[in-house]
Parts: sequence; C-alpha cells; structure tokens
Amino acid sequence: MTFPDLQPPLKPIVYSKILQRVEDQAYLLKPMNCPFHILMYKSKTRSYRDLPIRWAELGTVYRYERSGVLHGMLRVRGFTQDDAHIFCRPDQLEEEILEVLDLAEFMLTTFGYTEYEIELSVRDPEAKEKYIGDDAVWEQAEAALVRALEQKGWSYSRQEGEAKFYGPAIDIKILDALGRGWQGPTIQVDFNEPERFDVTYIGEDGEEHRAVMIHRTVLGAMERFVGGLIEHYAGAFPAWLAPVQVVVIPIADAQIPYAHRVAERLLREDFRVEVDDRNERVGYKIREAEVQKVPYMLVVGKREVADGTVSVRKRGEGDIGQMSSEEFCKRLRAEVELKAL
Ligand SMILES: [Zn+2]
Repeated sequence: MTFPDLQPPLKPIVYSKILQRVEDQAYLLKPMNCPFHILMYKSKTRSYRDLPIRWAELGTVYRYERSGVLHGMLRVRGFTQDDAHIFCRPDQLEEEILEVLDLAEFMLTTFGYTEYEIELSVRDPEAKEKYIGDDAVWEQAEAALVRALEQKGWSYSRQEGEAKFYGPAIDIKILDALGRGWQGPTIQVDFNEPERFDVTYIGEDGEEHRAVMIHRTVLGAMERFVGGLIEHYAGAFPAWLAPVQVVVIPIADAQIPYAHRVAERLLREDFRVEVDDRNERVGYKIREAEVQKVPYMLVVGKREVADGTVSVRKRGEGDIGQMSSEEFCKRLRAEVELKAL
C-alpha cells in the first residue's frame, strides 16, 4: 500500500510537498493516523471471532493550516490526537458506539464538563447518490447510532445532509463554564476507507465480508483540549490537574530548611510542589501564589517548625488550620485520587 490518496477535505492542508529522503526512504509529515491502523489490521487475515479490534494511540499529526487561522493552543499545525479506530462487524456497531459514548461521558465528567450538545449527522435523503456505500448499509449504521444514543438517554439533534460522504457520525459539543461551545468527542462511521483499502474479515460462512470502521477521538486535539480546559477553569485547576499543587512558604529564612523538608515529603508522594524561598515578604508570596491559582499554600513559621506542622491555606477558602505534613498529605492524596473538582 502506498500512502493513501487523501480525502478531499484533508487534501489542501497536507504538507504534501515536504517529502524528505532519509537513507533512501521517503518521509512525509503524517496528517492522520487511520492508514497505519489499517495496515496493522491488514497484516493478517481476521476472522469474525477476532472482531471487534480496537486500537488507540496518542498520534502526532501535522496539517498545514493557513497562518491566519492559527490561534494559540486552539488551532495549531502539529498536534496530538487521542485517536482510535474500531474495526467491527456491522452487527457490532451499536454496542461499540454505545461503549464510545460511555467513554466520552466518563472523560468529560472527569474533567468537569457536564453540559453537551449532541449532533447526529446523517445523509441528505434527497441526494443519496452523493454518498458511498449502499442504502442498506447506511440505514443499518444510522439505526445503530440512533439506538446507541437512545440507550444512553441523550437527546440529540438530527442534522440531515451533514454526514460526510463516507458515513454518519455523532459529534459532541461541550459547553464550558461560560457557556461557550467546544468541539468534543467525535464518532465517525466510515464505509469508505474499508472499501478503498479492502478491509475484510472472514465470516462464519467462510466468506470474505467488508469490515466497518469507526474513527473516534474523545479529547480531540490534546493541545486544543488543554487550551479549552484553561478557559473552562479560568486557570484555577482542581488539585488533581493543577501544574503546581502546593507552594510551601517559609515566613523567615530560619524556616527555609524545614520548608524544603516538607516539600521533599510531598515530592516523595509525587505531588507537584514548589518552595517559595525568595527573600520577599510573606504577604507578597501568598498574593502571588493566589494569582498563580495554586490550590494549596503551606505557610511555615517558628510555631510550625516547633510543632512539626504546616498552616494550610486553600485557594478560595483561605486559612483552614494547622496540621501535620502527614495529615495534609493524606488529605491531598484523597482529593487527587477522587479527581475532586
Ligand atoms: Zn481515523
């Protein structure tokens, strides 16, 4: 198989001219992950008993977006997709879609998104000739998507004529804290690539059958997802997500060694911790950690050193009292393990 002809929507954004030869091999920047999963699938004969086969990867892809549309982390030219391809039999479609919907719900809820809008993109019934794949296959696939959505109990809007030429899809738009919509999970049924790359399995009848392929991303482009998360939380991440979870603040120079011992204790448990041992006033350091939206500050002075404790300030709540490092660790561990929001 040569590198695939690209589908029309992708063609203008591929770095097709930047072809490198390294030790006599041609290299091209990869615009999508699908063909490689297809190659893996086709590396041997698959039986109906082998299906479904689900392959996921964090795949780096490159697309030549025009410079005018590039936008921070939200629209970039090189990005990482949490991409997966599911190869299944037509009769497995509904169950596979339902599982992807469950996964999407789990991931979105974990990250604190509770509101979505769901679109089901289907064919234009007046222009069936624009789509590949026969009627029966489309009807079966659409019915499977609808049943999966109904089983999930999700309301959705049916978008007639919005399906790509190669299959129906479910798109989940997530709404952030300010009610803005972001592209979330996409689940695309594809009749085209299995046809073009001759993706088959041997059925119970001993004959070759065409496999169905589902492309799915849950977070989409990781860069854009993280950009969206920053907006959603306005930078005030819950402790499990915060890049710095704890800042230890010594009141005077004399407490700097103790502050580092507290930090080491937290580091041993893989918490992300920093010591602010700069020669600045405590009030200034606290304010700065607040501006940085660090979830916890541990202030240590003479009294804390004498008692072997830390004074805990929690973002949004202020002083929550003195406790041992041990107790604080336990508290933070519970919060992180629960992925508390
Ligand atoms: Zn794909």
